[in-house]
Amino acid sequence: MATSHRFDIIVIGSGIGGLTAGALLAKAGRKVLILEKNHLPGGCVSTFPRSGFRFEAGATTLMGFDRFQPMDRLERELGLHLDRKKLDIPMTVWLDGKPIRRHENLNDWIQEAETVFGETNQREFWELCYQVAADAWEMSYSMPFFPPASLPDWIQLAKPANLRFLKSLPWVLKSTQDVLSGFRLTQNSHFLRFIDQQMLIAAQAYSAKTQFLVGAPVLTYTNSPNYYLSGGLIQLPDQLIKIIRQYQGAIHYRKEVVSIRQKGTGFYLECSDGSFYETPRVISNSTIWNMAEMVQEDQCDYFSRLGRRFDFGWGAFILNLGVRDRFPELKHLHHQVIFTEPLPHLGSVSVFLSANDPSDLNRAPAGFRSVNISTHDPDPEMWFNLSPEVYEDRKREIESAVLDRIRQVLPVESEDIRVRFSGTSRSFNEWIGRKHGRVGGIPSDGLKTIFRMASPRTPMKNLYMVGDTTFPGQGISAVAQSGINTFLRIAEDDRG
Ligand SMILES: Cc1cc2nc3c(=O)[nH]c(=O)nc-3n(C[C@H](O)[C@H](O)[C@H](O)COP(=O)(O)OP(=O)(O)OC[C@H]3O[C@@H](n4cnc5c(N)ncnc54)[C@H](O)[C@@H]3O)c2cc1C
Repeated sequence: MATSHRFDIIVIGSGIGGLTAGALLAKAGRKVLILEKNHLPGGCVSTFPRSGFRFEAGATTLMGFDRFQPMDRLERELGLHLDRKKLDIPMTVWLDGKPIRRHENLNDWIQEAETVFGETNQREFWELCYQVAADAWEMSYSMPFFPPASLPDWIQLAKPANLRFLKSLPWVLKSTQDVLSGFRLTQNSHFLRFIDQQMLIAAQAYSAKTQFLVGAPVLTYTNSPNYYLSGGLIQLPDQLIKIIRQYQGAIHYRKEVVSIRQKGTGFYLECSDGSFYETPRVISNSTIWNMAEMVQEDQCDYFSRLGRRFDFGWGAFILNLGVRDRFPELKHLHHQVIFTEPLPHLGSVSVFLSANDPSDLNRAPAGFRSVNISTHDPDPEMWFNLSPEVYEDRKREIESAVLDRIRQVLPVESEDIRVRFSGTSRSFNEWIGRKHGRVGGIPSDGLKTIFRMASPRTPMKNLYMVGDTTFPGQGISAVAQSGINTFLRIAEDDRG
């Protein structure tokens, strides 16, 4: 039955992209309904219980609260109140067994980088990174239609007020590797390994594939102020939903939208449980790869073309552990461990390890810690057609190899482990519907990911897109920015 005449807009999915757009629209007076496939909100930013522990579903770090950054904007514009605690060290990187502390303060960080990588041009490179990153954040704040995805976006960009950003043009044209090479830093192979694995975290690509306008904010993002949310990152979607409800909006769980049909100027949405919703407007927080299957045949061409344009996305392998709290290095909550021998079946040479704050007893019982470990998977679909035995065997093999590679941080013995389980791209596909099991957005790919991304507007009037496959940049800040952009486009369309 159609049940939703009282809502102005339906958002398909409660990822941070969808919830950001939904909360901004709700605050601006629109009645918003979120339809969520899962029984928990947040998509890749969620926290779920298991055997007395609570684990993060995907993301573990939360940045983006500095000036001109999207989380700061959301806190101010939405009155979002997060119970957040700043970490002393945003992240530690382990390279060949040695810790590199990514200090937040520029001079402290340069000193650390010079000690580890030698003094040649470290200061010059990092000072430039900070300067270009600051400009890039200000640009994305002041020009929400950058990167331009359509003619109206280009017209918006050409406004005289935006001419001051022309100074950033060289950084659009040069890759991060070009800039490193200009500083003779590509000859420093130790440093290049560090840079490329750091870039993978937030650009999903290495320095050669990432334009410096994206690369600079990515490289400074991993040592920008990083926050812990008590109870887990699910606090963020929970708070956004609270705002949506406060303005007469709602969320319906276990509602997977399987088809989007145009009806007059509005839409008719069908869910997998047979229910229907009618609405004048839709925002989809699903990926560009999912959309072709959801829209009518005459509209799927657009999404199929987008899918072919961006035909690669990483999967993720996740290992969750509930362990005894006896490991000194876990006083720092986030670690990237870089190693030389690639992981079996995945080929990755780094993992990201995060632990809960020991005082947060919502996440782990006293005397234990909740640990999330993740790594990139270049072939997410390899998991889809395995027999149950091979699937489990392969997971076990990777789990053991991961435990072996992280011994500097977490030298666990079997008696330390109370809970242990892993997830693959198949889990992300089944649990939050990510087509092909691809997560983390669209990897940077030179100018293509700056100028040829999908627009939040689609060829179907009143159907908009949001989320990590519609914005060039990955992570919570990027999807929050994509939510802001979608909101602003809808506001502009309403003004006519
Ligand atoms: C392992 C991993 C680690 C990460 N680490 C970090 C990190 O530390 N810091 C960081 O900032 N970022 C991190 N990221 C990236 C970041 O979490 C994601 O890019 C971002 O959260 C994606 O948000 P999104 O809005 O695009 O949608 P998603 O998170 O994909 O959410 C989409 C939502 O829509 C729902 N949905 C989908 N299809 C339908 C449908 N048809 N009907 C109804 N509902 C539907 C899903 O169930 C889901 O809840 C990580 C990602 C992963 C996978």
